[in-house]
Amino acid sequence: MEFKNVIIAGSGVLGYQIAFQTAFHNFNVTVYDINDEVLEKAKAKFAILSAAFKRDLGATDEQLAATKARLSYSSDLGEAVKDADLVIEAVPENPEIKIDFYQKLAKLAPAKTVFATNSSTMLPSQFAEYTGRPEKFVALHFANEIWKHNTGEVMKHAGTSDEVFESLLLFAKQIGMVALPLHKEQPGYIVNSLLVPLLSAGMDLWIRDIADIETIDKTWMVATGAPLGPFGILDVVGITTAYNINKMAADATKDPVKVEIVEKLKSEFIDQGKLGVATGEGFYKY
Ligand code: NAD
Repeated sequence: MEFKNVIIAGSGVLGYQIAFQTAFHNFNVTVYDINDEVLEKAKAKFAILSAAFKRDLGATDEQLAATKARLSYSSDLGEAVKDADLVIEAVPENPEIKIDFYQKLAKLAPAKTVFATNSSTMLPSQFAEYTGRPEKFVALHFANEIWKHNTGEVMKHAGTSDEVFESLLLFAKQIGMVALPLHKEQPGYIVNSLLVPLLSAGMDLWIRDIADIETIDKTWMVATGAPLGPFGILDVVGITTAYNINKMAADATKDPVKVEIVEKLKSEFIDQGKLGVATGEGFYKY
């Protein structure tokens, strides 16, 4: 199974990065989104990503011109997928939107087309039945700034065929990712299964006044050689995401430590516009 024509559905934060990365690595890419206005916004991001690829990877003008030539755009799903080998879905993290998308895609894509979801928090088995081809459906999860943080987590659901799984691992390598196979479904994949408990433990130590945030971060960094500790990472991820994850946990468990974390994140950070690196201040100033 070899992929040549790749369609990226959704041209937002991750979708456009995936499209650019895939075209940079010699595949024909069609970017699909709901209307032409959104697609114009996506096209405008070409210059920003070109600058990042030059700065971080030393990409040449010739490589970037070839990348541009391999990218096309369409707001017509049927037209976009008519000869698709692979569709990578990066539509919003909302189950209704994703189900509606797969129901439409299932009818329009040829039988040969493999579908991959980039969903961060949902499992492929939630959508498999709507794809009309569960054996050709798999998760391919990227991290933000994929050209630098180049993990490609490829995760099977129970019905994914071995051939499709292996093909996606190969594809992930061909587009410059470190291909990471997950043989079974796991919420949060590998990366968030490790990261969320670390961040959570850091906040637990902070809220219970065991140590201040600088000491907690310093301990982790000195002891493991990691470049950031949990609070440095939280500033990169964004305080809003940390708040949303903790709010869900607090509502579900009523755990008093979690409730206090949520209150503090709201009053001392979110209400004051301190959302992390993106706003210039979170736990640290930037
Ligand atoms: P985003 O909101 O930036 O972009 C979503 C895009 O999908 C928008 O351009 C929107 O117009 C488009 N869209 C909406 N409905 C659509 C439809 N029916 N068909 C096609 N396109 C449609 O979202 P994002 O941050 O790029 O996230 C997309 C997916 O990637 C989510 O599943 C998310 O979990 C996953 N993801 C995000 C990150 C991240 O850091 N942002 C990291 C890894 C994975």
